[in-house]
Amino acid sequence: MEPIRMVDLVGQYAKIKEEIKEEINQVLDNATFINGPAVSDFQSELEKYLSVKHVIPCANGTDALQVIMMAYDFPKGAEVIVPSFTYVATVEVIALLGLRPVFVEVYPDTFNIDIEDLESKITDHTVAIVPVHLYGQCADMERLMKVAKKHDLKVFEDTAQAIGANYKFSDGNTVKAGTIGDAGATSFFPSKNLGAYGDGGAIMTNDDELAAKLRMIVNHGQSERYYHDSIGVNSRLDSIQAAILKVKLKYLDGYNQARQQVADKYNSAFATTDEIITPITANFTNHVYHQYTIKLKDASKRNELNKYLAAQGIPSMIYYPVPNHLQKAYSYHGYKEGDFKITEDLCSRVISFPIHTEMQSEQQDFIIENVLKFFSL
Ligand SMILES: *Cc1c(COP(=O)(O)O)cnc(C)c1O
Repeated sequence: MEPIRMVDLVGQYAKIKEEIKEEINQVLDNATFINGPAVSDFQSELEKYLSVKHVIPCANGTDALQVIMMAYDFPKGAEVIVPSFTYVATVEVIALLGLRPVFVEVYPDTFNIDIEDLESKITDHTVAIVPVHLYGQCADMERLMKVAKKHDLKVFEDTAQAIGANYKFSDGNTVKAGTIGDAGATSFFPSKNLGAYGDGGAIMTNDDELAAKLRMIVNHGQSERYYHDSIGVNSRLDSIQAAILKVKLKYLDGYNQARQQVADKYNSAFATTDEIITPITANFTNHVYHQYTIKLKDASKRNELNKYLAAQGIPSMIYYPVPNHLQKAYSYHGYKEGDFKITEDLCSRVISFPIHTEMQSEQQDFIIENVLKFFSL
């Protein structure tokens, strides 16, 4: 049996090696290292895949979020609502721009932003909401958009973990994650569902005016060469990464299906024990399982389980052990333990098992067998 990894990028590469090399070689042969045809081709192919008017490639997912918020030029101290249970990047860029991250609770079953708590946190200073489609399923966007509209707030979707996921509105209209709000941000970090072989990111929007602004900001605020209309940044998707992503985009749906199969198998295997609470998918979304994250009935067993599995050569991870409102970097807002009880409870209880596109059935059987064995000891 091959060694078990959280994400098997080695095995995935082996299957598409020749195609990838050919695309990379084209960039090398033509020396189109910056914003060449690989970038523009990938951009239009992603626009088509997502059915969105504009994709703005950039250097990484964190930049994607930052550039969106730069485009709006919100006043210093304006409030941006984010779930406390998310990766820190979502929160970081808000603080970096001198805005105030306002945390809200998540639902304990889907791990996504709690719409009632969100609405209760809106003040006269609130300007935007950043829902995160955590682990690969969409937040409750229809209700969220209604709240945003009612209070005249912008919505920026953090879809770094959910590229390719579908969201279904109650009228049956189905769209891709990241294309519902004013703008969406995604990441091509190697382990993401659409991963490059280095850093990468993109913004998506259907708003022409916003798209033009975003393209300017990622390019030093430049409207035409050497004319700078606003303060920008240098945030480009590398051409070699774009060439790689162009190949991998063709496989994204297949990759997401492979992840779903792994998740289905875990779900049925773990249904046999009440020690494990398997992930729930809301009825308005599908789940592309960026992570397969379960809740332990008994949180005090998590450390032991992690160690037990590691001893058998099975990695497991905690996404995320510390809620953002209790991170040292954000303590200046005066949040304290007990402010977000569900988030805090989840941070103590969740554990993620290996999930990727190359899982062999003997590997997954071995993981399942050992997890179940742990609970029978
Ligand atoms: C990965 C990730 C990001 C950041 O993406 P980078 O490309 O690493 O900057 C932002 N938000 C979430 C939820 C993520 O998982």
